[in-house]
Amino acid sequence: MSTLTTEEKNIILDSIRDIPDFPKPGIIFKDITTMLGNPQAFNTLMEHLTNRYLGYELDYIAGIDARGFIFGAALADRLGVGFVPVRKKGKLPYTTVAEKYSLEYGFDEVEIHIDAFGENGLCTTGDRSKVLLIDDLIATGGTAKAAASLIDKVGAHCVEVCFIMELGFLKGKEGIEAPVYSVLEID
Ligand code: AMP
Repeated sequence: MSTLTTEEKNIILDSIRDIPDFPKPGIIFKDITTMLGNPQAFNTLMEHLTNRYLGYELDYIAGIDARGFIFGAALADRLGVGFVPVRKKGKLPYTTVAEKYSLEYGFDEVEIHIDAFGENGLCTTGDRSKVLLIDDLIATGGTAKAAASLIDKVGAHCVEVCFIMELGFLKGKEGIEAPVYSVLEID
């Protein structure tokens, strides 16, 4: 398992831009586009994630719409495993399984294809497919909790949920059953 040095953490952290009051007043939006455009920072992150998850014997990586797609797909290719998009409602063309979650006002819904992790969520050996769920950031944890429960619903096994950033003061990870790993914890 790999551990990031303080210097490596700072390379990643310093490459992420804070945008105050986006998308609404009071929110500090963590803009990862500046990290993606910084090859040293993006590579430091991807090397770390690759080293961490090499030994997990994953079958799939599931990425949450939309920034989780970027990290998830890059990592899946590095590890030689499949990539599955967890999408916002109404975007996937085949039969889906959906899960609702609460927002500050109202609710949202995420979906996956019913056979995304193999028929009944089983891999070629007949065991439950081992899935890593990934997103850029955990705030309240509602999105990730719904996405993780979708993985279980279709019969696969969510072995860990990984975030690039965790807003620790919101305690979002407490609602997630699977182990949670956050590269950077932000106060
Ligand atoms: P939550 O369900 O509250 O944990 O929200 C997580 C989702 O909202 C993730 O997909 C994030 O990309 C996005 N998100 C929430 N808060 C922020 C923030 N401060 N900066 C960037 N993205 C955020």
